Amino acid sequence: MEFIADLHIHGKYSRACSKELTIPTLEKWAKVKGITLLGTGDFTHPKWIEHIKEELKEDGAGFLRTKTGFPFILQTEISLIYSQGGRGRRVHILLYAPSLEIADKITEALKKRGRVDYDGRPIFKISCNEIVDMMRAISEDIEVVPAHAWTPWFAVFGSNGGFDSLEEAFGANIKYIHSIETGISSDPEMNWRLSKLDKINLVSFSDLHSYWPWRMGREATVFEIEPNYKSFLHALRTGEGIKATIEADPAYGKYHVDGHRNCNVRLEPAEAIKLNNICPVCKSHLTIGVLHRVEELADRKDGFVRKDAPKTYHLIPLSEIIATVLQKGIATKAVWEAYNPLLEKFGDELNILIRVSFDELKKVCDERIAKLIIDLRERTIKINPGYDGVYGNIDGFANPDADDEEKPKKEKAAKSPKAEKAAKSSKTKKSSSSSKDNAKQKGLSDF
Ligand SMILES: [Zn+2]
Ligand SMILES: [Zn+2]
Repeated sequence: MEFIADLHIHGKYSRACSKELTIPTLEKWAKVKGITLLGTGDFTHPKWIEHIKEELKEDGAGFLRTKTGFPFILQTEISLIYSQGGRGRRVHILLYAPSLEIADKITEALKKRGRVDYDGRPIFKISCNEIVDMMRAISEDIEVVPAHAWTPWFAVFGSNGGFDSLEEAFGANIKYIHSIETGISSDPEMNWRLSKLDKINLVSFSDLHSYWPWRMGREATVFEIEPNYKSFLHALRTGEGIKATIEADPAYGKYHVDGHRNCNVRLEPAEAIKLNNICPVCKSHLTIGVLHRVEELADRKDGFVRKDAPKTYHLIPLSEIIATVLQKGIATKAVWEAYNPLLEKFGDELNILIRVSFDELKKVCDERIAKLIIDLRERTIKINPGYDGVYGNIDGFANPDADDEEKPKKEKAAKSPKAEKAAKSSKTKKSSSSSKDNAKQKGLSDF
């Protein structure tokens, strides 16, 4: 059975998330997007797990289901901040659990090491190596997956606080690490360049902080599995059943190349290396992007193709495509007015982005939108790369999306009540410009 899965999500108690981010809204918008299996997000959070237990029932096979039968898998993300080898390390980790009972045990174990109630993604002073031990002591069916593995600030390979190899991070427990989430700023093709990752399965999820279809399923993994947790776990561990991944073009990610957002400096890795990674404007150290990190750690040339790898789709959310063509804000009435007829005609967004032909599309939308959908699908249009927290843009178009996200460095501040302010929400009406404010909370994806 095919599942288009988004298994890295957050709920309304996570920092900078919409208050409307609930199980029912997640289900509703998953259907719009074309996502057929979701992570629950944030199961360590006391209020969110209560919400999960109210809205979802275990189906006896390790999936949780809504009243209509829509499936979820228990998933949470934690932040590990510690030092190793004299250096500060900051790594985000995804955890998958086979049952509510095991999820509760995970929370209990983590509570002995810190608080879990201030954020859906709590922080612990636990090493990568130790977290695997802790999880395996609870259940061998818990899976640990390094999240958005390449982002600079909070990732296993991050230029800032990461490691040069999974072995260095996980020590002897490397044998229990079977997959990594590639994150928005990298795609499987970039990861294939490291022969060390040949045995690691590559998955892609959105890390959504809002349910809007330009966040949910922005990245996703297509599984061909039985509808149960064991089959999902088998796919993560062996790669059998991972059929494809849906990627945002990595250049579109906020940390693809090197640079300084405040200095308006964007540099390809080779240019940054020539400058000793020093910003030509402010003379301080550049934020090193994902491509640079991959170049540093890769032992194969760009263009290497991994044998028998799952298919990859490179897509950009439909709302973003429409907003780019119309040069309107992503959540404006004009964008929804172009979006809704397409959705009505073709069922769900991923179907539109992946399958519908140009001729069919242009019957329902502006021909320029139809053309851009096809150009992006076929990768015949250039994306100018993102850097230091600034999204990339489609060549020839200004990025329609104001970037107002918090700097990742603020993560430590999440313990203070001030961070709550960032979680302000607003109305969530579809097809209305009133959704604009909410859309500004674009989430801290990809940290
Ligand atoms: Zn600078
Ligand atoms: Zn994260």
